[in-house]
Amino acid sequence: MLTIVAKDPSTPEPASTTSFTKKTLGFDVEPAVTPPPSSTETTFAKKPKLGGKSKKKDIPEGLWTKCPKCETMVFDKELDENLKICPKCNHHFAIGARERIHSLVETCSFEEMDAEMTSVDILEFTGVASYKSKLEAYQTSTKLKDAVITGIGKIGHHKAALGVMDFSFLGGSMGSVVGEKLTRMIEAATDRSLPAIIISTSGGARMYEGMFSLMQMAKTCGALAYHAKQKLPYISVLTHPTTAGVMASYASVGDLIIAEPNAMIGFAGPRVIKDTTQAELPPGFQTAEFLLDRGLIDAIVPRQEMKARLIYYLDFLMEGRRPVPAAG
Ligand SMILES: [Zn+2]
Repeated sequence: MLTIVAKDPSTPEPASTTSFTKKTLGFDVEPAVTPPPSSTETTFAKKPKLGGKSKKKDIPEGLWTKCPKCETMVFDKELDENLKICPKCNHHFAIGARERIHSLVETCSFEEMDAEMTSVDILEFTGVASYKSKLEAYQTSTKLKDAVITGIGKIGHHKAALGVMDFSFLGGSMGSVVGEKLTRMIEAATDRSLPAIIISTSGGARMYEGMFSLMQMAKTCGALAYHAKQKLPYISVLTHPTTAGVMASYASVGDLIIAEPNAMIGFAGPRVIKDTTQAELPPGFQTAEFLLDRGLIDAIVPRQEMKARLIYYLDFLMEGRRPVPAAG
C-alpha cells in the first residue's frame, strides 16, 4: 500500500497526456508516425539529445505540408511551384498576396501603390494585446504593412488596377488602410480608364478600428459606383474565406464575381445562421459551388487558370476601350 502511494507523486508530470503517450510510444513502437502539427515542435526539440533517429530526422518541420483534404504529405517546394494547390486532390491552400500577384501579372509590370500606408490605433484599442502591438507583430511576421496590396500591372496585354488581400495579416481584416488603399486603387482605375480587379480573402471588418472599419464598406462601394458610371468593369474574385463586412461590400458588387473552388463565402458564420434560423443548413452551404448553383456568383475558376480566365474576361469587357495615360 505504502509503495503505491509513494509511486504516485513520483510521476506527477504527465499532465499533458499527448506528450507523455508520444514519448512512451516513440521509444517503444512507432518511429515512423507523422507527428501532428501542434506537437511537432516538442518532439523535434527533444530529438537532438537522442541523436541517432535518422528516419524522423528526414522529415524536418517546414519541408512538408499535410493536405487537409486528402491527407497527402506534399513537399513544400512542389506546393509553391504549383501555386499552393495540392497536386493530388486540387485542394487550394491559402496563398500570400505577393505570390498571388506574381502568379497573375507580367514580370516587372506591377507598380505598387501606397506601399507604406499603415494603420493608426485611433481608438487606442486594448484587448488581450493592444492593437498597436498586434500590428507590429503581424508586420514583422508577414512582412506586409497591412492586409492588402494594391497597384497597377499588366495581366496579359491588359493594364489593370489590382488589389489583392492577404489572410495571414490579421485574418485579412478590413480596417482604414485596406479600405483606403482599395479606394485609391479603384479611383486610379477610374481616372485611367482601367478595369479594376479585387481578390478578396477576409474575416470581415477589423474590430480594433470599430466604426472606422465599417465606414470602409461605404467608401469602397462608393468608389466602385463612380467606376461603374464610367462604364468600366470591376471583377471581384472570392477566395477562401471571404466573409462578413468584405463580402457585404466590395466583394459582392463585381460586374463579374468569380471564386476559387471550395472557397467559403458568406456573411455570418454557419453556426450563427443555424442558431438564428433554427434550421438545418443544406450540405455544402456557403461554398463557392453552392453559390454558383444558386446564381450568386458567375464562375468558379481554379487558381491555375485564373490568369488566363481574367485575360479572357477582360478581352470582352475592355473591347474598344483604351487606357488613359497617368496624369503627371
Ligand atoms: Zn490534397
